[in-house]
Amino acid sequence: MTEPGSTIPATSHNQVSVAEMVDEDWDVVVIGAGPGGSAAAIELARRGCRVLLLDRYSFPREKVCGDALTARALRALEHLGMQEEVRRLGRTIGTLSVVSPAGVEVELPEEYVLLRRRLLDDLLARQAVRQGAVFACGTAIEVRHAGRHAGHEILLQGEARILRARSCLVATGSQVRLARRLQLVPPQSPSGVAMRCYVRSGLPLERLVVAFARDILPGYAWIFPVEPGLFNVGCGLFRPLRHKGRIHLRQAFDRFLRNFDLARRLLETGDIVSPLRGALLYSGWEQARAVAPGGLLGVGEVIGTTSPFTGEGVGQAMQCGLLAGRLLADALGTGDFAGLEDYPRQLRLLAELHTDGYLRAERWMTRPWLVDLVLLRARCSPRLRDKLNALLRDTSDPAQVFSWGGVWRSFWR
Ligand SMILES: Cc1cc2nc3c(=O)[nH]c(=O)nc-3n(C[C@H](O)[C@H](O)[C@H](O)COP(=O)(O)OP(=O)(O)OC[C@H]3O[C@@H](n4cnc5c(N)ncnc54)[C@H](O)[C@@H]3O)c2cc1C
Repeated sequence: MTEPGSTIPATSHNQVSVAEMVDEDWDVVVIGAGPGGSAAAIELARRGCRVLLLDRYSFPREKVCGDALTARALRALEHLGMQEEVRRLGRTIGTLSVVSPAGVEVELPEEYVLLRRRLLDDLLARQAVRQGAVFACGTAIEVRHAGRHAGHEILLQGEARILRARSCLVATGSQVRLARRLQLVPPQSPSGVAMRCYVRSGLPLERLVVAFARDILPGYAWIFPVEPGLFNVGCGLFRPLRHKGRIHLRQAFDRFLRNFDLARRLLETGDIVSPLRGALLYSGWEQARAVAPGGLLGVGEVIGTTSPFTGEGVGQAMQCGLLAGRLLADALGTGDFAGLEDYPRQLRLLAELHTDGYLRAERWMTRPWLVDLVLLRARCSPRLRDKLNALLRDTSDPAQVFSWGGVWRSFWR
């Protein structure tokens, strides 16, 4: 089974072969053309740098994702000059429904734009090319710092010649091996695992649905109406290694499809039209070193920018790319790379981190009745609904929702 066609056609890309680019001198080679890498390439190119954006796949390519863009992602897209185009091509939905294990449903007003990653990532790479970057297809296998004045050498799979650049960004998403070897991130187990498929059905649905299904706790399943007649249906689990042996995510997802009313109706009226594909998620950017000598930076999920609670990561990756691009363009302009040491600190300013809160929420969420209780209270309490909404936007501490304190305060508002 292949991935379904989209109602929005992706046109063929002017991506060149990396073999044609090896004799050039680049200011920056960006490895990985996901939202993080492309955002960095756009920022660098519009600041006058000679940028090569490299991806191992020929675009447009599929990317396993829920395809939901949050307010954070829309803000980053605005900085990239792309919000209007993405809104025009995507589908805007104004409500998110959260459903508890016992079926308690809370509706939260919030704007999301749904756009398949196959299209979004292609648009971002195109914008990088429009701004002056060159987009090439090739796989980086090693990066060597060749000394203070010689910059970096990037070794490529299946190509004897090497790429040379004054500096390099590693934006390889959940492919973390290269970044680990370069000591941009410590060895870390994945913070999540998630999978999705597409379902075609004529069922009307004008909201995003997130279900804390009993079998998938601590984690959740979703149904997102990504295009008219096309649904992105998937699920994700926090810290899979911790729950290994206890939760079999694939089987839990099958049960969700059979038992969750909306999922069952979708399948009764339609068909699964893609393979079920999964990927690991990495959070924990507070532990990332993110900078190596000579202007080598990590960008996006590879350094753990994805939210540990929601699994949302497109907005954060783009914010991170914009920041890295700005700092690196300044450093290349002045020849002084010392300022890049501030990158990890500035990264931390981009997002609120609630490490204790995530752990506490995860413990709460292993008990279905506690999740039922929270959502029952949220139905009556505007305060708790606001907190829950902020949590799903990744802007509040999960402990303010999933804790006795959170439940207690919900009685007063
Ligand atoms: C099932 C699932 C659902 C999700 N749903 C959502 C959602 O709805 N909303 C949201 O905001 N986030 C979601 N996420 C998270 C989101 O997908 C990631 O946070 C986001 O893609 C990170 O962007 P990135 O640019 O850092 O990396 P990626 O998007 O992973 O891009 C990395 C790129 O690097 C390339 N690459 C890797 N290695 C090499 C190499 N050696 N050489 C050259 N190229 C290389 C890859 O081909 C890829 O194109 C979901 C994740 C999963 C798994």
